[in-house]
Amino acid sequence: MSEHNFDIVIIGAGPAGMGCAIPLVKNHASLCVIDRATFPRDKTCAGLVTGKTYRLIVSLYDGEAPDDLFCFTSGSVRLFRRTELLVDAPLEHSVRLVNRKDFDNALVERYKQLGGTLYEGEAGLSIDYPAKRIILKNGDTVTYQYLLFADGALSLAHRLLKVDKRDLAFGIEAYIPSEKLSTDSIDLYFGYLDSGYAWVFPHGKTVCVGAADLYDRKTDYRRLLEVILADLGVDAADIPFKGAYLPYGTVIPQDDLDDNILLLGDAGGFTDPISGEGLYMALQSGAYAAKALLTTAEPKEAYLDYMDRLTRTVKDGKRVQKTFYSPPVHKLFLKKVVGKSALVSYFFEQMVEDYRYEYRDVRRLYSDYKKTHKE
Ligand SMILES: Cc1cc2nc3c(=O)[nH]c(=O)nc-3n(C[C@H](O)[C@H](O)[C@H](O)COP(=O)(O)OP(=O)(O)OC[C@H]3O[C@@H](n4cnc5c(N)ncnc54)[C@H](O)[C@@H]3O)c2cc1C
Repeated sequence: MSEHNFDIVIIGAGPAGMGCAIPLVKNHASLCVIDRATFPRDKTCAGLVTGKTYRLIVSLYDGEAPDDLFCFTSGSVRLFRRTELLVDAPLEHSVRLVNRKDFDNALVERYKQLGGTLYEGEAGLSIDYPAKRIILKNGDTVTYQYLLFADGALSLAHRLLKVDKRDLAFGIEAYIPSEKLSTDSIDLYFGYLDSGYAWVFPHGKTVCVGAADLYDRKTDYRRLLEVILADLGVDAADIPFKGAYLPYGTVIPQDDLDDNILLLGDAGGFTDPISGEGLYMALQSGAYAAKALLTTAEPKEAYLDYMDRLTRTVKDGKRVQKTFYSPPVHKLFLKKVVGKSALVSYFFEQMVEDYRYEYRDVRRLYSDYKKTHKE
């Protein structure tokens, strides 16, 4: 049995872990990444890559992301009330989609090609926090100065912090062959869920049909997806469904953790509580953590400062989520949005493609829209 000493250990080789590990390895930092899965591995995710996420991916590839990373490019978004089309909005900038199994594996391969060390298939990790030591399956030990949790919505760190209450959504999805159901648009379906939406996203030879809502143990998510698929005219027999949790409006407080422990991506509660988009915050938190570790004497403080804006986005977004899905507001929204393609495109460009406004400024966004559009 041997001991491997690193300055930084990252638990989780998903987008948050790789978003941090790739810049670190490029800068010759001493690090390793540990994941319980063996890659390529599946990840329940609809794979929507917005402009702001795309730019972060490009930076991981030094300016040019390989085209085969993406399985589809779409130029429009459509909103439905159940199956009734409300609005079809062209997008100024196309959005991309990824197959998560391929995408995550590509990032892991990039990290390894750059010389990065990965311990995979390491389920049931034993971490000795006072000794700053992790014991691997084969009995080898790994020591660290900094420990970064990038291990998803149900992070091991939540046990350490004794986090017992946090807002999680549960998402369920199925991949349907395009011969059975097809779309070229980003299709969002309202009216099926109390605090979330369903979607149909094009993935090339398949479409991803899914639904995500604030988690409620009484909800039968499988049945819900069956109903949606039946409404879309798809026979769901023999089609596998997969479900997963995602953070949905609670930032996990990191101040109670030691200064050498950081939470990234879903582990830190970083997803957008309106759209459920998590790839951006995962990659961005990874990039910020790397920057803090590489350039500052007090990385935790610097990291939390860099994350300030995204922390606000989650907290303010949670308030907007509650208002948006309150029955009177939601009903009014579905009535008023009919035919408003310019408004939907504007919102998408300003708030989804990029965070040009904060959620606390959403009224200003609307008044700016009204100043420039006659629709
Ligand atoms: C149904 C659904 C649809 C979604 N659709 C979108 C979308 O279209 N666009 C978007 O931007 N976001 C979407 N998201 C959110 C997005 O998938 C997540 O926010 C994103 O994957 C977070 O990345 P991460 O690296 O933080 O965590 P993850 O991607 O979950 O990666 C965590 C890694 O840690 C490993 N791990 C976990 N536990 C341990 C452990 N104990 N020990 C060692 N390793 C461990 C896992 O194997 C995994 O490799 C969706 C989520 C769901 C559930």
